[in-house]
Amino acid sequence: MSGTLYVVATPIGNLEDVTLRAVRVLGEVTVVACEDTRRTRALLTHLGLSTPAVSYHEHNETARAAQLVSRLLDGDSVALVSDAGTPCISDPGYRLVREAAAAGIDVVPVPGASACIAALSASGLATDAFLFAGFLPAKRGARRARLEELAGVRETVVFYEAPHRIGAMLEDLAEAFGPREVAVARELTKVHEETLRGTIAAVAAALAADRRRGEFVVVVEGAKAPDRKAETMPIRDRVAELEAEGVSRMDAVKRVAKERGLPKREVYREIVDDENRSPSRAERG
Ligand code: SAM
Repeated sequence: MSGTLYVVATPIGNLEDVTLRAVRVLGEVTVVACEDTRRTRALLTHLGLSTPAVSYHEHNETARAAQLVSRLLDGDSVALVSDAGTPCISDPGYRLVREAAAAGIDVVPVPGASACIAALSASGLATDAFLFAGFLPAKRGARRARLEELAGVRETVVFYEAPHRIGAMLEDLAEAFGPREVAVARELTKVHEETLRGTIAAVAAALAADRRRGEFVVVVEGAKAPDRKAETMPIRDRVAELEAEGVSRMDAVKRVAKERGLPKREVYREIVDDENRSPSRAERG
């Protein structure tokens, strides 16, 4: 009979967050598949366990998944863990889970900590529906393009971000999303845990003034439902309205183009034509 693949969540900082079930499963399985054997060995030792561990990470995923599936088919049970939090959530594991399920093996989640859910639960932002967007691209151009795609999402959006990119990321976020509420969670469950709440610009300024590093989750308010007025008002007025909210002209044009299903160049043309037609502000007095 085949063994079971357990997908086991581990703490994201505070070791007390390991569940009783996780401890039992980690002690009962034949082998623990983990990202970093040294790190997982330290956790297992802390828990008083001596289960063997093998590495499973993005560089050996394909070969290792095949080996682990073959062991599972032979009757071994395997616990998949990542360095911290829930495996497969911006972490390796997806391929193993997929291949195990395809081979008819039982895949059982053992839930516990995840930075996304922890940050969201204390964010004070709407939690009835949310979009987990993981890490943004590291390169600025690709990051901005992705943020632009997400700017119209109505649900709360959750991002992970590396400490050395948090400043640039919040800058791009403010530009693409406009003046929205954000909750930035730093070092969750650890000694220096904190959640900064406010507008994106205010939180970005607070973080810029405080150079301490840490692990971050950024939770952002979703886009407001487009009001019919915004969709029907003259294009130039809608662009001006967004600019008054702090959105750059380029982003305002992109937003309006998306709202109306028009190409950007058409929105630009409308504004330019309008500007040429109407008297300047000074002339209007
Ligand atoms: N699988 C993990 C989970 O379930 O949360 C996430 C792994 S991902 C590679 C690591 C990222 O998660 C970090 O860069 C950070 O954005 C976020 N993260 C992990 N632990 C955190 C913590 N204690 N506080 C804040 N963010 C954390």
